[in-house]
Amino acid sequence: MPAFTPPKADLLARLSTCPTLQVPYPPIETFKELEFQAEDLEKHLRASQSFAIHLHIPFCKELCNYCNCNIVVTRQYGLAAQYADYLKQEIQWYGQIIKGMSQKRLPPKQIYFGGGTPTFLLADDLRRVTYEIENSFGVSHAVDRDYCIETDPRTVDTELVSLVKSLGFNRIHFGVEDFSTQVQQVINRKYTFEKLKQSTSDVRSQGIQSVSFDVTFGLPQQSLGSFMSSLKQLLKLSPSRVVLRKYHHNPKIFTSQSLIDIESVPEDKTVMEMRTFAINHLQSSGYCAIGPDCFVSNDDPLCDATKSGRLQWTQHGYVPDVADTVIGFGLSAISSTPSAVWQNQLGLRDYTRQVRSYGHSVYRGTELSVDDQIRKEITQRLLCNLEVNKEEFESRWKTSFDHYFAKELSNLEQEFGQQMVISNQQKLRLTPSGQWFANQLASYFRRAG
Ligand code: SF4
Repeated sequence: MPAFTPPKADLLARLSTCPTLQVPYPPIETFKELEFQAEDLEKHLRASQSFAIHLHIPFCKELCNYCNCNIVVTRQYGLAAQYADYLKQEIQWYGQIIKGMSQKRLPPKQIYFGGGTPTFLLADDLRRVTYEIENSFGVSHAVDRDYCIETDPRTVDTELVSLVKSLGFNRIHFGVEDFSTQVQQVINRKYTFEKLKQSTSDVRSQGIQSVSFDVTFGLPQQSLGSFMSSLKQLLKLSPSRVVLRKYHHNPKIFTSQSLIDIESVPEDKTVMEMRTFAINHLQSSGYCAIGPDCFVSNDDPLCDATKSGRLQWTQHGYVPDVADTVIGFGLSAISSTPSAVWQNQLGLRDYTRQVRSYGHSVYRGTELSVDDQIRKEITQRLLCNLEVNKEEFESRWKTSFDHYFAKELSNLEQEFGQQMVISNQQKLRLTPSGQWFANQLASYFRRAG
């Protein structure tokens, strides 16, 4: 992708009023409670050809003040041990449905354990859960499988790495913020660069070469200087992937953020400077941008996937292979098939109660109309290919792209002229500037309401 030059202030202002794109498509606010029943799941799963598995383990020992995840802060391990039992039940429940289907499916090529802190679970409980996945869905031994676990760099040691390796994980993901003590103090997440270096080295010494980092910018007390220096240090560890995340201050929704003084959050201009530096520095350091916020080394499977058109975008970022169905296990996890999307219960008590009674914890969801399927596909194309081939679209959906999206194209034209998106006879294409705002521009193709 090209070098990043921040758009002029007026254009930036228009972009920042665009709704940010939500994962999954359609957005969660369109999900319906009660009307979406578990009995419907079998029908939706029947059409699936391939699976990815996402599993949410919501426990953390301590609260980071900037956190925006649905988590449970506790030091009582009993809650987590029980949770592992419920995860097992939930996996078995879906496993029964899948096993009862006529066609055979390959084992999942993507498994993602996210949190919270997945490694909050002790070894035996992590083993129980992963064995249940293997028992119900099988595991892939393909070299390009992506089995990733999020890990807290503060708690990693060789024993933990050896455990996750023995469970089949081949990628470790660390959330990294800023090494400045001032920032760490205010977000309540303290560790040194040396600790991260040691954790990364522990991972690699056990044969797991793929280490990815989330890097957050716009944090309270963060300055352009502290961010630049943290990012430069981080790249010395040669991560396979770096994902840039912007801090969103929203204490009404994320109550932990109420401990953060709004005055300590950097102003928009500084935040944009941080983003500009990060994008250009990552690219000049040899990282390949495969989307507006994801940067990978040349030997990362995402590079090949981009070239061969297999790249897919999911709620946990880009993945190197297309699975048409994601099954989410655990509190608030989201599942999607070609014809539906649903989410599990959001509260721990509701989640456990429902799994105990029914084996699943489906809380709300929605079926995808043909219109949703079309819009979901356009979102994928813009985020993964940065363009839509109109001929392919028309042959697949038997309708004219320009006619179908006349209103959306007119809105984009009115808002940005040709600066962000160009539409010609063959393609809808993001311009070099527009590529860095693919999330915002793709959101123009969401259904209204
Ligand atoms: S930021 Fe991560 S480690 Fe910190 S509280 Fe949230 S989920 Fe837990």
